[in-house]
Amino acid sequence: MRVPICEVTPETEYAEITGWIHEIRDLGGLTFFLVRDRTGIIQVTIVRKKAPEGVLTTIREISRESVVRVAGTVKAIDKAVGGREITPEVFEVINRAESPLPLDVVEKVPAELDTRLDARFLDVRRPRVNAVFQIRSTVLDAVHDYFFRNGFINITTPKIVAAATEGGTELFPIAYFEKEAFLNQSPQLYKQMLMAGGFEKVFEIGPIFRAEEHNTVRHLNEATSIDTEVSFADHNDVMKILEDVVVVAYDRVAATCDEHLARIGIDLEVPKSPFPRITYTEALEIASRGTGEDLAFGDDLGTVAEKAVGREMGVHYFIVDWPTEIKPYYAMPYDDDPTICRAFDLMHPRMELSSGAQRIHRHDQLVDQIQAKGLGVDGFEFYLKPFRYGMPPHAGWGMGAERLIMTMLDLANIRDAVLFPRDRHRLTP
Ligand code: ATP
Ligand code: MG
Repeated sequence: MRVPICEVTPETEYAEITGWIHEIRDLGGLTFFLVRDRTGIIQVTIVRKKAPEGVLTTIREISRESVVRVAGTVKAIDKAVGGREITPEVFEVINRAESPLPLDVVEKVPAELDTRLDARFLDVRRPRVNAVFQIRSTVLDAVHDYFFRNGFINITTPKIVAAATEGGTELFPIAYFEKEAFLNQSPQLYKQMLMAGGFEKVFEIGPIFRAEEHNTVRHLNEATSIDTEVSFADHNDVMKILEDVVVVAYDRVAATCDEHLARIGIDLEVPKSPFPRITYTEALEIASRGTGEDLAFGDDLGTVAEKAVGREMGVHYFIVDWPTEIKPYYAMPYDDDPTICRAFDLMHPRMELSSGAQRIHRHDQLVDQIQAKGLGVDGFEFYLKPFRYGMPPHAGWGMGAERLIMTMLDLANIRDAVLFPRDRHRLTP
């Protein structure tokens, strides 16, 4: 019976494994192979004088990264990886890999990101890269769990839409029969409509599409958004949920991904909640001090400013009380000072992770805000109608899954947190 390589221990007597030829070392009378599957690596040792004829035939035709099946006796041996090796009775090439390989899986030769992404199927065979995606899977699983345990409904909203969420920029138009349509930038409007639908607590983990003009290390054209919306909740309530989600994700990875973290070389520190909160005005002051720039109320916090504040804060933190003019129309202004609103950003010291807010739930106020932003209400009727027939107060946020993983694992580029990135120049594979 075939077993995962990690289950073969020095105490095992006999094992059958399948995997890929990771490395070949030929010392004349002795040939060593490292065979790899997604769980680990094992040494396969062949003493030419003693090996069966079938095994000798195999090793003549074998190439790195070929798919093989190996069965034989297991011996404890200190020098080998995992303290054991197999002496094969059966050594079969299931499918031979061509050479040279487009990419070195052993990572002895560092490869450019473009080369790696062009041969992504090989790149993800690298134990270090594979570990990132095992951790990504764990993170998304932990987030799902959190929402289910807390009574949220898992929703799926359309990705083909007729109207932009927040005005016309960053939109991908698509050919939709005789109509104009777009790929959705965010499930925002649909989450809100479902608050009018009485769902009360929803979440969605799905794709968002943004036509980002410029290539940066933290933007993708197709990203994965963890989104939630909650009725009868304000911005503070959903900030607490956001904190919990981040901590739960880190906790799960810390508890179950030791080996993957070790492969990446990360000593994971679980952030402590509650995260500190600073107001937008305080963030401006820190940024002005840190950058020497003279930032004024209403200015966006650019990358440099964000980094300066992040350096000073040093941990995950929230920026709250944003100017109404620079947040989307659906963010609710404070009653006593409508120049600021109940919006927040969750920040990692390196970058923004999430934006959220308590939303406007009154129809007329929402229409006013849309118009104040210079947007027309044409095409928005489907979104506005629910606000006239019993819309509860509600709040929510959206967090980029790739940014969560990128910052957790200290990856230099967001493309390292997604299998097949879409950016300005990359549409394949
Ligand atoms: P930024 O200012 O960093 O470009 P944003 O404020 O435009 O982000 P939001 O509209 O607030 O983004 O989206 C909520 C979250 O979704 C962001 O905080 C981020 O984590 C993620 N996100 C948004 N756009 C992208 C993108 N192009 N690539 C990856 N993640 C994204
Ligand atoms: Mg934002």
